[in-house]
Amino acid sequence: MFEKTEKGMWWDEGSKLVEGCSKIGKSCENCWSLEMEKRFGGDGVVKIFPKRLEKIMKRKKPTVFSIWNDLFHPAVPEKFIDKVYGMMLANPRHLFIVLTKRPERMLKYYNTVIETSAQVGEPALIDRALNIVIGTSAGTQIELDMRSDLLKLIPVHRKMKMLSIEPLLEQISLNLYENRPQGEKIARPVNGGGFTGKSIGGDIREVPGFGWVIVGCESGEKKRKCDLRWIENVVMQCQRARVDVFVKQINVNGYVVKDLDKFPGLGLRFREIPNYLEHKYEW
Ligand code: SF4
Repeated sequence: MFEKTEKGMWWDEGSKLVEGCSKIGKSCENCWSLEMEKRFGGDGVVKIFPKRLEKIMKRKKPTVFSIWNDLFHPAVPEKFIDKVYGMMLANPRHLFIVLTKRPERMLKYYNTVIETSAQVGEPALIDRALNIVIGTSAGTQIELDMRSDLLKLIPVHRKMKMLSIEPLLEQISLNLYENRPQGEKIARPVNGGGFTGKSIGGDIREVPGFGWVIVGCESGEKKRKCDLRWIENVVMQCQRARVDVFVKQINVNGYVVKDLDKFPGLGLRFREIPNYLEHKYEW
């Protein structure tokens, strides 16, 4: 599982369950996904592809799937989001990474599912799934500030949340910490399925709100500046907070470099991977 990190890839396979999107901020400006769709005749209008769920379900080999494009785009019907989550929960051998630039809708979705389940006396499951990593992506401070606090509010264990800082377009302060109340429960898998909760106790304290940060420069013909010091700074912030950090690619004199051995300076050579990507939950 998860064999392509040396190429800067932090997933095994991308699954385009949604095609089309609309740009929402500076980091979307040169969106690679929309560009590729355009090349193959796409019109950018949001479309869903339920049949592609079957392909994932048929895959026997445990795989880390990155769900593309933005599942929480306002044009994606809620019923389809339900289907995607149903599929992910029913296939725990795979791990799914769901990134959105619309965490406000993701938060609303999680809260609705949890409330609805509580009303009928059933566990929601999505809040304790150990094969679904949720995240948001940002390339500028303003994008990060708008999105990361919303992600922190989603009632999922903080280790199962991530930030994708790509393309990094300026120096960013990650604001990695959050306050956690006394007696926090951590969802853990138990033998034979299901979950148990263990109180970790203690006073209100500051802890990292995320388990993983990906950072990288922009690629492509229109790539924008990405200073190596900005990347180093992101790495340092993660190290200080003990959050795993994965440097996907850097821009050296106008060239995009993915080979870790060719990264100048040890401060950039970080390809850390959270243990849950191998179904090991040690936290
Ligand atoms: S949200 Fe993602 S897929 Fe949509 S335009 Fe922005 S970068 Fe592209």
